Amino acid sequence: MELYDIHTHQILLEDNDDPYHSCILDVYPLEFEVAKVTYKRHSFSCGIHPWYSEDSESQLNYLFEIATDSRIIAIGETGLDKLKGPAFNIQIPVFMRHIELSEQLEKPLIVHAVKAWEQLYHIRKETKPTQPWIIHGFRGNPQIAQQMVRAGYMFSIGDKFNVESLSFIPKESLFCETDESEIDIRDVYQQVADALNIDIEEFAAQVAENVHRVFPTLQTPPPFFAEENE
Ligand SMILES: [Zn+2]
Repeated sequence: MELYDIHTHQILLEDNDDPYHSCILDVYPLEFEVAKVTYKRHSFSCGIHPWYSEDSESQLNYLFEIATDSRIIAIGETGLDKLKGPAFNIQIPVFMRHIELSEQLEKPLIVHAVKAWEQLYHIRKETKPTQPWIIHGFRGNPQIAQQMVRAGYMFSIGDKFNVESLSFIPKESLFCETDESEIDIRDVYQQVADALNIDIEEFAAQVAENVHRVFPTLQTPPPFFAEENE
């Protein structure tokens, strides 16, 4: 099976020690040039996290300069967080700039959202994006999941998630991630497959199909063979 981690902040092993999955490594604009030569096989998302959106004008301008690079395959993570970071009146304009860039370059948006479903709903309605918006680390309850599905979002599932919500999300809209956790991406796939009551191979094939559709340039990793006893 092919394994993908579509949102991570670290690649714990060197490429050579880590032959079994491909990642979208999330980097800040200023980290990109170094990351790009360090990690040859993986791709990148680049943006300004909502926690650090204050006084981010020069970083944003730099992001607009580098985001055309073909190794950057998604814009973000960006988004809104009610519990951490500056007030929404600071976060929202920065989020809007990321939306603008995502649309302009036709690259999907990786969205961080904490207690901001209402604001997101209005912003999405207002901006009518054509690019996929992927809510990363989705942990919402079934009611939120259903609303977000209706609104057209996609979802990336990490270490902790709401098991009941999964059944409301179309399988064509699912991805897996490790984010900041040191969990093995294989364990995330296993947990989600278990929650969906399907075989991990079947689930991985579905996620791979989603990745090929949404991120066609993310390199296909060598196939990973699960151990016999797994
Ligand atoms: Zn993250």
